[in-house]
Formats: sequence, C-alpha cells, structure tokens
Amino acid sequence: MLEVSISAGQIFYGQTRRRTDVPFDEDLRSRTRSLAARLHELMRSGVTPPAIYDKRKCERCSLKPDCLPELPTKRQSAAGWLDRQLESALKVES
Ligand code: SF4
Repeated sequence: MLEVSISAGQIFYGQTRRRTDVPFDEDLRSRTRSLAARLHELMRSGVTPPAIYDKRKCERCSLKPDCLPELPTKRQSAAGWLDRQLESALKVES
C-alpha cells in the first residue's frame, strides 16, 4: 500500500520499562494473518469464546476481574471448579 518494507518493530513493557525487538518475519506475518482471520470469524459469529484459565497469563492480566476465567464453563463441572478453589485456598494457608 505504501510501498515501504518494515522488517521489525518493538514492544515496550511498562512494568520493566524495556523495549523488546520483534522481527517481522514470514512466520510472524503468517500467524498474524491467520489470527486476524480467526478474530473476524469470531466477530461475525457473535459468540465470545469461553475464557480458559492459565495461571501464568491470567494472574497478571488486568482483565481478570471482568473476565472471571476461573468460573466454570459448560465444558467444566462446578464440582471441579470448587475442588480447584479449595485446593488453591488451602495452598495459601499452608
Ligand atoms: S484473565 Fe486475561 S489472560 Fe486470562 S482468560 Fe481472561 S483475558 Fe485471557
């Protein structure tokens, strides 16, 4: 479109106040196109996919209070969710 070749970018992390170089290679471009297509599919369908709790990601995510990824979804049982909550609470106390 602009006939300009951009080979890399940078991500700035606020917490560490550091920049990380991101090379715009073909693999990243391909994955980005694929994810953008998936996003458009989801938007067209009008269905929000269920949140999948991942301790590594969710515990640092600012959306967690609204996202509530630990709530049971149709694919999980309430009993399993309760077990995990109890396990987590017992770990904190010990
Ligand atoms: S809390 Fe954040 S990282 Fe976890 S599922 Fe929700 S949006 Fe994704």
